[in-house]
Amino acid sequence: LLNNVELLPPDALFNIKSRLAKDSRPVKVDLGIGAYRDDTGKPWVLPSVRKAEKLIQQSTDYNHEYLSIGGLGALTQGASRVLLGDQSTALKENRVVSVQSLSGTGALHMAATFLAKVGHDKLIYLSDPTWANHKAIFEMVGFKTATYPYWDPATKSLDLQGYVSAIKSAPQGSIFVLHACAHNPTGLDPDHDQWTSILDAIVEKDHIVIFDSAYQGFASGDLDRDAFAVRLGLEKLSDASPVIICQSFAKNVGMYGERAGCFHVVFPRQDQSVDTEKVKAAVTSQLAKITRSELSNPPAYGAKIVATVLNTPELTNQWHSDMVTMSSRIIKMRHELRDHLVKLNTPGNWDHIVGQTGMFSYTGLSAEMVQRLEKEHAVYMVSSGRASIAGLNSSNVEYVAKAINEVVNH
Ligand code: PMP
Repeated sequence: LLNNVELLPPDALFNIKSRLAKDSRPVKVDLGIGAYRDDTGKPWVLPSVRKAEKLIQQSTDYNHEYLSIGGLGALTQGASRVLLGDQSTALKENRVVSVQSLSGTGALHMAATFLAKVGHDKLIYLSDPTWANHKAIFEMVGFKTATYPYWDPATKSLDLQGYVSAIKSAPQGSIFVLHACAHNPTGLDPDHDQWTSILDAIVEKDHIVIFDSAYQGFASGDLDRDAFAVRLGLEKLSDASPVIICQSFAKNVGMYGERAGCFHVVFPRQDQSVDTEKVKAAVTSQLAKITRSELSNPPAYGAKIVATVLNTPELTNQWHSDMVTMSSRIIKMRHELRDHLVKLNTPGNWDHIVGQTGMFSYTGLSAEMVQRLEKEHAVYMVSSGRASIAGLNSSNVEYVAKAINEVVNH
């Protein structure tokens, strides 16, 4: 049974982590993994999370019982409110089904499993480039994936024309996975007008959208601003199509390892002939079956923390300022890196580093330059040239700029 099992290469991202651990050079910089670090290079437990943990542990009904199959209601309700907004018509019209998922990855897996189960057999369109796990998640369930143009390397900007024409030429009713904000890996988001063109083209072709919302509030520090695309999408798409949203609390609550997330299906405004309540019940039952067979029930601890943050006004306010702390430090590092590169007269234009948003910058460095950064300077990043800006801090940003300057020049 086992002797002919194919040996797969190690995961590119987590392999960086293990090379880094083995590197004994005194100065080394991790710009690989997408996890926030404070200005001393350490993981940061958000003050709002610390306070929520205290509240939970002091509560008289503190325990480690199972959650229900659909997860913690206080989480799923709070999560949909944060994502869709207090004024959401979909929420007011009771058109949203939300269940807890195993962070964002689990929500995407649920999307894939659910679509396969209901017999969807069309292509899944992913941005080129995209987070590597998108392809893996959908293909693991048996879907074929295709790509739509996104990043134009020549201009380091959005290839809107290519993007929209891919939408128009995709078979009617295809699935498009859209990054809600802080596109990974490029850090490049469409502006409001570009989103309008993209979503209008999607409506024209009756495509189904899966929004992947992994960075809401983490990108700009403002939950509403980072939810722009999702909310515009619901406005435009809801007349005819369901919209799926995969939501992660890994980054914006800094709960990477606790796997808190939600999966939402927003139902279209149906005409009178459709019994939406009946359809919702059927969908909910299918989602429950997926969770029951794969997790039995979702993990409780992270869910309780996030739910407490979302439902306790004082902690919600603290969380908002925590997100500003993270996003503004990252924005500051973008500026410092660009300014150092300019001061060093590093060939090329580096303004895209400050124009990009969220955790990552698509630096434009070649795979060979990335390799030399690691080998000669102990600066680690993904071979595509994606740098996690969260790995920069006041002590290493100049060092990194000098290393980049050196590999670009020689
Ligand atoms: N989508 C994107 C685009 C991401 O970058 C990530 C995290 N790297 C995720 C989803 C999901 O992350 P998690 O499973 O940790 O919530």
